[in-house]
Amino acid sequence: VIVFGSINLDLVATAPHLPLPGETLLGHDFLKVPGGKGANQAVALARLGIPTQMVGRVGAQSFSAELIDSLQAAGVQTENVLLDETVSSGVAIIIIDDAGQNQIVVIPGANGCVNQEDVTRMSRLLPESSALLLQLEIPISTVLAAAQAATTAGVTVILDPAPAQSNLPNELYSLVDIITPNEVEAGQLVGFAVDGQESAKKAAEALLNRGVKNAIVKLGAQGVVCATSTETFFVPAFPVKAVDTVAAGDAFNGGLAAALSQGLPLRQAIVWGAAAGAIAATKLGAQTSLPDRLTFDTFLKERGI
Ligand code: ADP
Repeated sequence: VIVFGSINLDLVATAPHLPLPGETLLGHDFLKVPGGKGANQAVALARLGIPTQMVGRVGAQSFSAELIDSLQAAGVQTENVLLDETVSSGVAIIIIDDAGQNQIVVIPGANGCVNQEDVTRMSRLLPESSALLLQLEIPISTVLAAAQAATTAGVTVILDPAPAQSNLPNELYSLVDIITPNEVEAGQLVGFAVDGQESAKKAAEALLNRGVKNAIVKLGAQGVVCATSTETFFVPAFPVKAVDTVAAGDAFNGGLAAALSQGLPLRQAIVWGAAAGAIAATKLGAQTSLPDRLTFDTFLKERGI
């Protein structure tokens, strides 16, 4: 599986509350951890034992080496992560309040510089790949070119439309095999509020009308709604004691793609995604919360799956 997307340093600060309009808060003791939606999804796949290639860019700072180390430590192949000396690595500032709510601001840096050169490098991997995972922390023109190359090669394109956007190019929808927005992202894409199963069904079907082949709307602790060309169905989440849902969506995408790469049908792949997402929600952090294969298999086995 190829993951083409963002690699960030996450700066995580805890604050008594989130900033109010006009208010300046001091972020104390920033925790520095490897992140980025692309890197998180690559780690999720590799931890499940799937051969995974990361394609992307990091910048000049010394911490960039740590970002690559964390990918390699999880088993992700990083020969196609380019060191771009002319820019800074991507950084995400994450503020978590007392209630566990978070706000995230992403500064793209090197992620914003990926271009056709990276698409060309990525394309060489396509003949040996089953799926390509894309997110929107890299430029939309690059996402489009990568999706085109994958479609031509017959490789499944999975798009996580985060961060949320209201207007994706029409052409992109028709290149996507599976789109996986959460409620907020689905709402932005379709232009109406998505806040439960009924509106998620409408949103998933609206996304199908735009040309995607399958639409999965993630509803956090509730589960997911999936629309395909033949049916729309709901898959419940696994009940767990959630402590931190950061990267639950990335774990979901990793689990989904892992199952598909092993030839499992979409419904079963969604169950894998939901299991990986649920496990990630029970642990603190982004990459630190992503399950290894033994933890994942045990979780499913204990639930009779
Ligand atoms: P995102 O991180 O993209 O916003 P979600 O929060 O919807 O995505 O999480 C993705 C998936 O992870 C959910 O669809 C669900 O299967 C699982 N998940 C997330 N939060 C929980 C939770 N509190 N309990 C159980 N499963 C969860």
